[in-house]
Amino acid sequence: MKVVHSLQELRMARGGLPGPLGFVPTMGYLHEGHLSLVRRAKSECASVAVSIFVNPAQFGPSEDLASYPVDLPRDQALLEREAVDLLWIPTAEQMYPAGFQTWVTVEELTRPLEGEHRPGHFRGVATVVAKLFNAVQPDRAYFGLKDAQQLAVVRRMAQDLDFPLEVVACPTVREADGLAMSSRNSRLNPKERQAAAVLYRALSAARQAYAGGERESEALRRRMAEMLQTEPLARIQYVSVADPETLAELQGEVRRALLSMAVFVGKTRLIDNVIVGDPETA
Ligand code: AMP
Repeated sequence: MKVVHSLQELRMARGGLPGPLGFVPTMGYLHEGHLSLVRRAKSECASVAVSIFVNPAQFGPSEDLASYPVDLPRDQALLEREAVDLLWIPTAEQMYPAGFQTWVTVEELTRPLEGEHRPGHFRGVATVVAKLFNAVQPDRAYFGLKDAQQLAVVRRMAQDLDFPLEVVACPTVREADGLAMSSRNSRLNPKERQAAAVLYRALSAARQAYAGGERESEALRRRMAEMLQTEPLARIQYVSVADPETLAELQGEVRRALLSMAVFVGKTRLIDNVIVGDPETA
């Protein structure tokens, strides 16, 4: 695995890689969720590039940028083991040099859900992903459904800005108790870690209600909220039943829907989602 830092080195190394090139952008502190994207890319592409960059532009002033977990030697060893071809670790100074002032804004899709609670977050995401795509020039880029709105925003951005690549969606990898894997889970103390399983229990309760014939969006939202409220360490930021394509909140009867939530467990903010009404899961 070749490890590069500067844009010049990245471009040189990228030039020598056989296509199609698969790309997995990450913020590091890798877990099985990230590795599932890498394995999918390996299985579909002749070569695979991964980036590790904790993007300051997507963190709000009161968010956890300074304490975001980092362990580059461990990440590097994990990627080496997956036979990744190229690892790019840019610096913030290089991505956002003095005078930087060009931003990518995706409009409607970034207003609800995470966008409502994390102002500026998706401007940071769309901008950095556009820069990563420009630098790496992948044929396919792999993103997790765990961050469903991010996936929708990146898809829209890639289409609107004519990036000649395919955005590939990968399923959420979970712990044995259902908790979606996340670098942020490392912040949970043992009690919080146990409590965090309530997110998936809430999603499962609503999914089960849907499977049993419940179609009222408000009843599905209530089902999630009630389950979350059984856990004293959990504090709901939002629960949502939204259109999986537009992400607009749904009222009344629903068919296909993105069930999603953001919940604080202690000081750690966790998000998770499932889709109901897919032809294969209906
Ligand atoms: P992050 O390092 O959190 O920015 O995540 C990098 C990529 O990994 C994003 O496309 C995420 O959606 C994806 N990802 C994170 N957690 C999981 C998970 N538990 N299962 C599948 N993909 C994930």
